[in-house]
Amino acid sequence: MSEADASNSPKPALVPLTAALSTVRGVRTDRAEGLARLGINTVADLTRHLPMRYERLEPLTPIGELKSGVIGTVSAEITATRIVRHGKRPRFEAVLADHTGRLDLVFFNATYLQSKLIPGLRIRVQGDVRQRGPGLQMANPKWWKADADSPDVAETAVEARIRPVYSASEQVPSPAIEQTVGLVLSDALAQIEDHLSPEYRAKRSLPELREAYRMAHTPANMEETKEARRRLAFDELLMLQLGVFLRRQQMRSAVRAPKLLVTPEIDASIRARFPFPLTNAQDRVVREIARDLRADRPANRLIQGDVGSGKTVVALYAMLAAVACDAQAAIMAPTELLAEQHFLSISRMLSGSTVRVELLIGALSEAEKLDVLSRLAAGRIDILVGTHAMLTERVRFANLAVAVIDEQHRFGVHQRAALRSKGEDAEPGTKPAAPHVIVMTATPIPRTLALTLFGDLDVSIIDELPPGRTTIITRVVPAERSGEVYAYARKRIDSGEQVYVVTPAIDTGASADDTGDQPRDAELNDLRSVLARLEQGEFAGCRIAALHGRLKRATREAAMHRFRDGKVDALVATTVIEVGVDVPNATVMIIEHADRFGLAQLHQLRGRVGRGGKQSLCVLLASPPPLTPEGEARLAAMAATSDGFEIAEKDLELRGPGEVFGMRQAGAPPFRVADLMRDRELLALARRDAKKWIDESPTLHAQGEDLLRKRLLKLHGQWLGIGDVG
Ligand code: ADP
Ligand code: MG
Repeated sequence: MSEADASNSPKPALVPLTAALSTVRGVRTDRAEGLARLGINTVADLTRHLPMRYERLEPLTPIGELKSGVIGTVSAEITATRIVRHGKRPRFEAVLADHTGRLDLVFFNATYLQSKLIPGLRIRVQGDVRQRGPGLQMANPKWWKADADSPDVAETAVEARIRPVYSASEQVPSPAIEQTVGLVLSDALAQIEDHLSPEYRAKRSLPELREAYRMAHTPANMEETKEARRRLAFDELLMLQLGVFLRRQQMRSAVRAPKLLVTPEIDASIRARFPFPLTNAQDRVVREIARDLRADRPANRLIQGDVGSGKTVVALYAMLAAVACDAQAAIMAPTELLAEQHFLSISRMLSGSTVRVELLIGALSEAEKLDVLSRLAAGRIDILVGTHAMLTERVRFANLAVAVIDEQHRFGVHQRAALRSKGEDAEPGTKPAAPHVIVMTATPIPRTLALTLFGDLDVSIIDELPPGRTTIITRVVPAERSGEVYAYARKRIDSGEQVYVVTPAIDTGASADDTGDQPRDAELNDLRSVLARLEQGEFAGCRIAALHGRLKRATREAAMHRFRDGKVDALVATTVIEVGVDVPNATVMIIEHADRFGLAQLHQLRGRVGRGGKQSLCVLLASPPPLTPEGEARLAAMAATSDGFEIAEKDLELRGPGEVFGMRQAGAPPFRVADLMRDRELLALARRDAKKWIDESPTLHAQGEDLLRKRLLKLHGQWLGIGDVG
């Protein structure tokens, strides 16, 4: 800025929020570069980089003024260290000294500290001070490195203060971030506009946005950190919920759906097609669907049911309801194999009926595809079974009324939107028609969360397995006992049953010239080594097939077919078998390095057995120690329960909802502050408010909503597919 500018403006200009940190006075180039590496480029980025936690800094006491029996905090230099091995427990000792005296530190069972606490280092320690002989001592004190590069703010503090701890890097440690924030914060705060009105904030006891940022970065006390967190977390939840309801609003007002009336006669004739009576749970869900289909706005229902709970017939019910009303239906599976399986079982149930079912998968020849497409467009196919390939442009239905998406693990907003667009074209002056959409998933989602994340979905739950299922026995077994496990599996093979073996990788990728003396992931029992071992060893003479993603699709399907037809005894596979495969004679599932898989994945894999009348077994082979704590927790959770809902809760706890529901893949911005598990109450509040808000202001164009709408669209517009109306 030039002199003239400065003298003309009454106040010095603020550093704009969009300014690159490298241009801010006082921020050194290497600091700016280090921050950039953390994804922090501008003043706004830095302001939004919130502390992950806070530390209480007690005022420092010179060593000479410490008193026995009280907690003291000291910052001083290490002058000597040693390890003492005699006595009951080995201990590490260090001497701290400042110009007022000397303090002995002792750490029991912590000889590893010798490499960290080295003479010459300045540290800050906090702990109980005790008289020991002539001198003072602290046993097992808390300690921190006093950062030499960025002078410890506490060195001079005389009162306790709260210090933010930022997620940081070696190059830019937390105190350096704190210092940089100090350079820009007051300018930044002055420019922060609130998107919530004072009235609304007052009603919900929320601080102003700029005050929330101030309290987050420079809290006067712990209360302020909580207040800041509450506002910022609520903002995130409210924005998401507003986005979800805005989207629902747009969907509802934009399209109409064909009304499908399921009369008692239609209901009876559909049920007559099923080879078994529906379970109570299936029956309830089917009635919920029938109610949806009667309305002229598109159903949008999520059906959750554990693996094997019988979702397919529920889907078929909905599809046949469409066919009975002279409309078309489609079911979309995640893999061709599953599509084919659905095609076969649906065709079997409909054999002898007039319903025309077709399969559309990539494996068809071009001529076959064209034939299916033209009959589909002419309304001469009633039910289309396929993969996501049916979402492409050239697939056109004559009158699609029900679309089912099977085994949906993702958020799936896009796919659902694409399916909806397969409805009829709008007559001039009318709303375009969209099919009723039913999404099925075996990844159970706690109900409150489901409502939240899939706010535009209604939820049905099949919480009952068909009769005659035996429970699956699950055992966690250490890797070194895998021999016994495979020997037992061999016995089951010899008595005519079939076995799945799942490995986490195809090969470890070791190079050919690897001499074996390099530590590498050689400990990994990959598909190749397991296959070789079993062929030579426990499964010698059995019919074994391999199944993994690098095989050609045709090879893969052939292997799967042979397994299904009982021509293969053991399938050694990666997780490609995860979803939906139904082979009742397969009774043993052995998972190598089970601790490396996610919970939902393990649950899916386990669901491949226990599909017939015979007692089934799932063995989770643990990796050799040390296991990661999460890995261990997952194995314990799997052994403890076979209830998909409990597993889902556990999964949420271990991984966080964004990961579990694939919100990230769907493009949702991650939460910075909110935590869907911890903030359930805030979430409920945000949901209530958002619903009311959109009811009253369906496009967010009311007075004073411009900033809110702008921020909302920027944050969630694209991934939720919300258009700016008007
Ligand atoms: P998923 O919910 O995992 O998709 P499926 O629809 O594949 O489950 O059903 C699993 C098995 O249970 C299939 O073999 C199916 O025929 C059978 N099944 C489904 N519903 C019933 C029922 N009400 N009574 C008996 N067997 C059923
Ligand atoms: Mg299924």
